[in-house]
Amino acid sequence: MQKGNIGVTTENIFPVIKKFLYSDHEIFLREMVSNAVDATQKLKTLAAQGDFKGEMGDLTVHVNLDKDKGTLTISDRGIGMTADEVDRYINQIAFSGVNDFMEKYKDKANAIIGHFGLGFYSAFMVSKKVEIVTRSYKDDAKAVKWSCDGSPSYTLEETEKEDRGTDIILYIDDDCKEFLEKARIESLLNKYCKFLAVPVAFGKKTEWKDGKQVETAEDNIINDVEPLWTATPSQLKDEDYKKFYRTLYPMHDEPLFWIHLNVDYPFHLTGILYFPRIKSNIELQRNKIQLYCNQVFVTDQVEGIVPDFLTLLHGVIDSPDIPLNVSRSYLQSDANVKKISTYITKKVADRLQSLFKADRKAFEEKWDDLKLFINYGMLSQEDFYDRAKDFALMKDTDGKYFTFEEYKTLIKDNQTDKDGNLVYLYANDATEQYSYIEAAKAKGYSVLLMDGELDTPAISMLEQKFEKSRFTRVDADIADRLITKDDEKKNELGEDESAKLSEVFKTQMPKIDKAEFMVEVQPMGENGQPVLVTQNEYMRRMKETSKYQPGMSFYMQMPDSYMVVLNSDHPLIKRVLDETDKATADALKPVEAELRGQEARLAAINQSQSGKKDEEISQEEKDDKANTQKAINDQRAKKTQILSEYAAGNEVVHQLIDLALLQNGMLKGQRLNDFLKRSVDLIK
Ligand code: ADP
Ligand code: MG
Repeated sequence: MQKGNIGVTTENIFPVIKKFLYSDHEIFLREMVSNAVDATQKLKTLAAQGDFKGEMGDLTVHVNLDKDKGTLTISDRGIGMTADEVDRYINQIAFSGVNDFMEKYKDKANAIIGHFGLGFYSAFMVSKKVEIVTRSYKDDAKAVKWSCDGSPSYTLEETEKEDRGTDIILYIDDDCKEFLEKARIESLLNKYCKFLAVPVAFGKKTEWKDGKQVETAEDNIINDVEPLWTATPSQLKDEDYKKFYRTLYPMHDEPLFWIHLNVDYPFHLTGILYFPRIKSNIELQRNKIQLYCNQVFVTDQVEGIVPDFLTLLHGVIDSPDIPLNVSRSYLQSDANVKKISTYITKKVADRLQSLFKADRKAFEEKWDDLKLFINYGMLSQEDFYDRAKDFALMKDTDGKYFTFEEYKTLIKDNQTDKDGNLVYLYANDATEQYSYIEAAKAKGYSVLLMDGELDTPAISMLEQKFEKSRFTRVDADIADRLITKDDEKKNELGEDESAKLSEVFKTQMPKIDKAEFMVEVQPMGENGQPVLVTQNEYMRRMKETSKYQPGMSFYMQMPDSYMVVLNSDHPLIKRVLDETDKATADALKPVEAELRGQEARLAAINQSQSGKKDEEISQEEKDDKANTQKAINDQRAKKTQILSEYAAGNEVVHQLIDLALLQNGMLKGQRLNDFLKRSVDLIK
């Protein structure tokens, strides 16, 4: 019997392995089973080369639980190891057996997993003792048994083993008893080994017999040795892809379409990426891509390996060229990983482009489900924007789709403002903004529907990308001013009248939490709305953008500011003005007379003080000015008071305000109730 210390310099490597090597203890099973599969693949390679001429027999890898003994055994009928090889590949752990093998079978070595580094030793994360019972495929090879109890010392002795291949026997640690549970092992095999290239059996199939589950003689094979991504794309039908998608994601809707990735140079990568329907909430949609290394599941945390927006896709990527058990930060700087990332981005864009070209109608039908994904891609990846700008679509409020270029051509003539800026009008809620949309359309404008989750940042991005262009929401202003042209209508009302009218309405605006109203008078045509509430594009956008940008949260605290526009052309507004004049004339007369007098006085004071330095003005003069100013303010307040008292009793004013608020979805609670009552009274 040989005894010795395994060839590591550290006094005891096992605690290190246990704690630090893998954060996830469960991957030991992946390592053991994939070693068994490797050994089997190697035998197949040898046979193909003519270096192994013996009987292959059944090559199924077996995983067996023995709860009584507390062991989990992984058995294969692969190449096995001689005593010498155990010494080299297991005892001198710095040294991977794959190196020797790769050297000899360079071109055929693809199928061999050699990227897991200290794979075998992960067994000690869950075991108090590990035994290897193995017999090499080589003629006259003697079976050997290696045993190690978790200290650096091992024993290696000859033993009896009838069959070629290797049994790895794990004596599961007391604090890892979960790995003796059938259900746990089953789910781990399902997670990591589902697509391994050699059949893996976990116990026997069971069936119902006489009212209970009994084992049959048939192996319970847990994997699909030829997953779809390893097949030749030209031989696959749509239904094959859909079926595979269902096996990966039984709970998901059918995918929109897919890409079969297949590249040999400058790196190896295969896989199938599916485009899911993404309607909203990007965060919930992530991490549906599974990463494999030669059909061994590695992770579904693919951030850093594929561009961020691609983590919204579903499917599998299989590459032996992604270094697997290294840290994430290392991964992100790995040159291969970067190349892979660029490659996938390009592939995805190419696929979308060709779908767009081949069948525009079908592409449009899928657009609403695709839009979030493409917007996210354009927002986060410059190179994706450059590719996507030719097939990304805009949708108008009538449900028509346009490419960026097509839309620009469409609106160029009618929607260029007097400064030469192209104005893109949009609505983010076609129902709520219905009347604004109609008003814009009445002017011959086109209105886009931008109701997606990422449309706010997308709008800012497009404004930067497009030249001399800006986006304006349809309710940002009255239709006449959405796009400023030279034909601005003149307000026929005098300044005094406009001010009075504004005061009447302003004093009656309700107090709404986080809302601020300003009032102005504008001619909007006899047939226009009498009162319209608009919301300034700039401020609204600042608030919306601040949601996406850290450090801008103070914008969120600011009230929304609205403009209440009174239509001076409208008969009802004219009527309010008339009635106000009549009803308040007597009360206002002395106030206005006083106001005019004080204003004249202030003007005179200002005149006499103009050009003088502060120290040249006497205290008396200063006081006089302050008093006059105060008198003016008092009179103005009085005027407001009179108008307000009058307006409070004017039902038309309230009705008009409420109608405008209603149109914006801002009439709620008690005010809505009052409005309903008043409306009924008015028609009674
Ligand atoms: P890697 O798989 O990356 O080479 P491991 O630590 O998983 O590293 O395994 C070390 C070596 O031990 C393997 O390269 C192989 O030579 C040998 N080995 C492990 N398991 C088996 C097995 N079931 N059959 C034959 N050889 C094995
Ligand atoms: Mg291994």
